[in-house]
This record gives sequence, C-alpha cells and structure tokens, in this order.
Amino acid sequence: MRPQILDALFKPVLTLKGVGPKVEQKITRIAGPALVDLCWHLPSGLIDRTYQPSIAEAQAGRIATLKVTVDKHTIPPQKRLPYKIRVFDDTGFLTLTFFHGNKDYLTRTLPENETRIISGKIERYGNEIQMVHPDLIVKPEELDTLPLIEPVHPLTEGLSPKTLRHSIEQALDQMPDLPEWQDAAFLARENWPTFKNALLACHHPQILRDLELDTVARQRLAYDEILAHQLSLAIVRQKMKTPKGRPLRAKGNLVETFLKNLPFPLTGHQQRSIEEITQNMGEPTRMIRLLQGDVGAGKTVVALAALLIAIDAGAQGAFMSPTEILALQHLKTATELLAGLDINIGFLSGRSGVAERREVQEKLESGEIQLMIGTHALFQEKVTFKDLGLAVIDEQHRFGVHQRMVLSEKGNRADVLVMTATPIPRTLALTLYGDMDVSILREKPKGRKSITTVAIPMERLDEVVKSVQRSIDHGVSTFWVCPLIEESDVFDITAATDRFEHLEMIFPGQVGLMHGRLTNNEKDEVLEKFLSGQIKVLVSTTVIEVGVDIPHANVIVIEQAERFGLAQLHQLRGRVGRGREQANCILLYQSPLGETAKARLAIMRKTNDGFRIAEEDLKIRGVGDLLGTRQSGLPLFHLADLEAHRHFLTMAHDDARLILNKDEDLSSERGKALRLLLYLFRHDEKILLLRSG
Ligand code: ADP
Ligand code: MG
Repeated sequence: MRPQILDALFKPVLTLKGVGPKVEQKITRIAGPALVDLCWHLPSGLIDRTYQPSIAEAQAGRIATLKVTVDKHTIPPQKRLPYKIRVFDDTGFLTLTFFHGNKDYLTRTLPENETRIISGKIERYGNEIQMVHPDLIVKPEELDTLPLIEPVHPLTEGLSPKTLRHSIEQALDQMPDLPEWQDAAFLARENWPTFKNALLACHHPQILRDLELDTVARQRLAYDEILAHQLSLAIVRQKMKTPKGRPLRAKGNLVETFLKNLPFPLTGHQQRSIEEITQNMGEPTRMIRLLQGDVGAGKTVVALAALLIAIDAGAQGAFMSPTEILALQHLKTATELLAGLDINIGFLSGRSGVAERREVQEKLESGEIQLMIGTHALFQEKVTFKDLGLAVIDEQHRFGVHQRMVLSEKGNRADVLVMTATPIPRTLALTLYGDMDVSILREKPKGRKSITTVAIPMERLDEVVKSVQRSIDHGVSTFWVCPLIEESDVFDITAATDRFEHLEMIFPGQVGLMHGRLTNNEKDEVLEKFLSGQIKVLVSTTVIEVGVDIPHANVIVIEQAERFGLAQLHQLRGRVGRGREQANCILLYQSPLGETAKARLAIMRKTNDGFRIAEEDLKIRGVGDLLGTRQSGLPLFHLADLEAHRHFLTMAHDDARLILNKDEDLSSERGKALRLLLYLFRHDEKILLLRSG
C-alpha cells in the first residue's frame, strides 16, 4: 500500500545504530516507534559553542570552546577530592576539574604537553578559572568535526542526549527527496523551502531565533501537517457525501406525539436543534451534523426526535454508544420515552449471543426493527440494515472519524448525527470535525440546579467521609472517583481498591467498586446495585466518566483532582446534578497545589458552563495542549502549534476542499505527491477511501 519511497522511514527505531531494545522503548515513549516519528521530534533548544575566547578573556557562566595545552595532572590524594588538570594558552591557566576522574582515561584523552580543543562552561573561583567536566575534548585537527551548535531535544529519563541526537540524525538521513505537494505559486509567495530542507533546518538551528514557531521552515512543516489532517478529513467527508443522500421527511406525526408526551418542555436550544436537523434531513443532500452539548444538556431527546423523523419517513434509525452501559441507558430512555409510539426497538452489544445476534440481524434485514440501539457491535460487517436512514453516534469523544465512516457506509446514503459532550470552541471544532454542520445546546433544561463545587485538601478527608455519611442518611448516593495515575490501569485500580476497602470499613455493605478490569457482567452488576440504591457509594476509576444517569447520586468526590484536566473534571462532575436536587462536587486535592492546578480548581468552583470552562482551559493550557491530551482521542500535532499556527487551520481547510474539487481521487501529479504527505503523517486509512491512483 504505502509507496516504497517511504519504506525506510517507517522502519522501527530498533533498526538504528546504537539503539537496542531499552533505548527503543524510551524513544518510542517520547517520539514514536518508527524513524519517521523521530523526524518529528524537533529540538527545543540549542547549545552554542561558537564562543571561542582566550583563557584570560573567557567570561564566567558562558559555554566556551578553547584551544589549550595540557600542563600537568594532579591526582587527588583522596578519592572524594576531584582530579585536576591544569591547562594553559598564551594568556593564562585554566583548571579542568573531574569528580571521580578516571586516571587512565584522563591520561589518554588529555596527555601532558599536548594541545586539545575543549568545550564547556567557564567558572571562576577567585582568581582561578575552571571548567568542570568539559562537554567535549578533541584534538585540534578534529575541530571541523565538532558540532559548535548542538540542538537540544526533549528527553526522557534514561535516554542520553547524544544517543537521541544520533538516532535523529540517522532517521533524517532516511528522509528521501519527495516530490512537491504544495502549490508552486503558494510556496513562492510564502518563500517557503522544500519539505526536506525545512525539516533539516528545524533540526539544525544555528541561532535561538531558528527555534521559534514562525520561521519559514517551521511554518512550512506546520502547514504540511495541518494540511495532511484537513485533507484526510475532507476525504472522509467527500466519501460520506457521495452517494448523494435523499430527503427524509416524516409522513406521520411521530415526532409531534413524542414531543407532546415528554414530561418536560424542550429548551429553546433543543427546539432549534431539532428544527435544524429536520430541515437538514429533508434536503436531498446527506446530513453530517455534530450535536454539541454539555453533559446533561439533553442531547438524547434531540437524537430521539431525529431518529423518529427517519422512522416516520419509512427508514430505520441506529443509535450507537461507546460503552455497553451507555447503550443500555439509551435503550432504557428510548423504551420509556417512546412507549406510546409503537416503535420496534432492537438491541445489540458485544455481549449479545450468537442466536440473539442472528435474530436481530434477520429483523434488521426485514425492516421489522425500526430503531436499533447498541455499541460498537453495530459496526461489525455482518450487520446489515434494510434501509438505514439515520445513524446517531453518541461519541463522548471516544470514536474516531474512521468508525463514523464505517457505520455510515451501512446505510449507503444514511444521514449522520454525531453527539459530543466535549464543548469545543468553534475554531477547534473545525480542526476536529472538518466540515460538519453543528447544532449547539448551550442552555440547560430549566429547574436544573447548578452543582455546588468545593475544593478540599486531602488532610480533611475525615470531614468528607462524614459528609458522605450525612448524604446517605438523606438517601443520597455518592460517586467517588480515583484518578488515572499511570499509563497502565493497574495503579489506579490499586488506588481505587484501597479507597474501596477504606470506605467499606466505614460503610459496611454499602460500597461498590468499579474499574476497567471488571468484566462487563461485573460492571453491570455493580451499577445495577448502585442504581437500585443497594449500595450507596460507588468507588471507581475514570472508566465511567461517560454520562451514566443515576438520579439519586447527587454527590461526586473526585480524589486528587489536581491530576485531572479541566475538561475531564467537568465531564466527571456532569455525572451528578441530573435531577432537581442540589448536587455537590467535592474536589479532593493533594497540597501544595501548583499554579495551573490552582487555576483549574478555581474555575471549577466558579462555573458550571462547559463552554466557558473550555474557553478558560484554552487560556490556561493553550490550544495544542487541549488537543494533545492523551485521553481525549483528539488529534495530536507534532510540528504544528495550534496557538501559533492557528491561521493555518482555515487556510488548510479551504485548500483541502479546493484540492479535492479539482482532483477527487488525488490521481494527478500533485495528487500523488499529496498521497505521500498523507502517508507521512499516518493518515493511511483515509487513502483507502480513494480510488487507487
Ligand atoms: P446529555 O446526553 O446531553 O448529557 P441527556 O439527554 O442524558 O443529556 O439528559 C439529561 C437529563 O435531562 C435526562 O434525564 C433528560 O430526561 C432530562 N432532560 C432533557 N431535556 C430536558 C428538558 N428540556 N427539561 C427537563 N429535563 C430534560
Ligand atoms: Mg447522554
């Protein structure tokens, strides 16, 4: 699949000289598994060794490179004293100091009476000029090979700068000359170098200025990366838009009846969203729409209304969730709210047995099932619909573009509504979802009390436990969330288990434990007990951060809240406050708090508005970070900085559309070059959508 010219770049880093399994692991952690990932690991600083004074001139505190002659070695009388070597030039003496110096090594590298080039930091002690552990020592004839300007890279423990630099250089050597994928006139106007030259320039900064984000070289790379991303989104959209779609208009009055029977009036935003969707579905073009709304904003009702339009038009609807628990909850909600409407609902999840699956399959194909609710299982190839009209995907930021695409292929012209609870500022929505239309629920249902949030230091845990007791006395249950501590879920499970045991001693028989290692059956069992009120405190890791609805659980305790990002804190807090009762959120933190953590907790106390929180988050962290968080599933940019290169988003977005308008399958000369760009940035799966060219 991938063109041969890129093969070398996608070899594992283990193939590099000087890289064994240990180093490979470290490199993979900070950069990635392949050579190409190392190419994106740009320096964050540089060491300038171009200052070449005489000894007398050398200024303390500066890195200097000096040509000196070795005078004499002073071997320390005691091991704990440093080994000293006196060197000189025409202007004076300098002492090289080595702690735990190895005599053999030092006599070999710095023999008396010979001349050497040394480089390191100059220090002064009274009249004495010193250099402790020179960074470099070479013979004068080797001066040319000495990198007087050395890039400095972000490191990880146990990975030496030299090894990393050496690996990056080897990786860069594998970067071929690639055909130009940018428009020639555009490049000329911007005065941008070729991709390879830009990459090499960014890796070999000569002055500090070269490290900045607005150099021509860095801009070129950033634009390339953003264009690759926008192009991949545009391809997905293009393929989703064709074939063209069809108008879906309700024939009866299912939607009206549904809305009339609701136990509450719609919010203005719900109404407007339903109107936008109705209009959009009624058009002959395909709907690809994002329904954005904070946790508890009432997206489900909007989704059900949309599904009813499809059903009332004679087609089928599908409602998908990222987890079993959520899918079951949607099933319950749909069953209740659609009770009077005589709609045939089917359910499928990863747990469904073979027989059940077959039965559902038959009913889907015959059209007997009108509304299909489920999990990922719906993606499976074997599942086919008679006539899928609308697919609703409750994303909760867990699905990728790829899955969305697969599902919508089930109905060759099906409309798609993606629901997300991640409130993202408008410009970012563009980055993440490309060209989707957006409906926003910003207004919360009436009568919803805001959640009172307090931040309490861990030392006052006892008080918190007492307040949980008071809640239990009032029939109110508590979520108790323990943080994600490490990459692996083993550690947070330990933390959660410890907390569970601690609370279980205080509230015997009333505490449940939930984490990712439980089987689905076990999870459901715990959750059912919590729902029924049999257990009053549910200790969990972040596995159930998604919107599970437990009306009588109105307190949430978040332990080590300082470890969470704002978006996640907000998401977690949204588990409570779904009823009419006053809800409480207790953020337990480990003091002392850093500045950022302090700011985050303060915002959480100040507001319940997810959009406002997202905007504040942006201010604290910057766009790149907001998009880069490990758990968010959002795209991660290596070369682009979405703060500094923000203006590229719209540019690349327009550019990508223009490109595909002219060259739908990227089969022209430029198109072929653009395919290379997509491969370079690992958008392989999107290329599969293109006709081979
Ligand atoms: P979301 O999916 O956006 O997080 P839900 O759709 O699960 O939110 O709705 C949260 C709760 O609010 C549900 O119990 C739902 O029945 C209720 N709800 C939805 N719309 C309204 C409304 N307009 N007025 C009152 N309650 C509502
Ligand atoms: Mg929901």
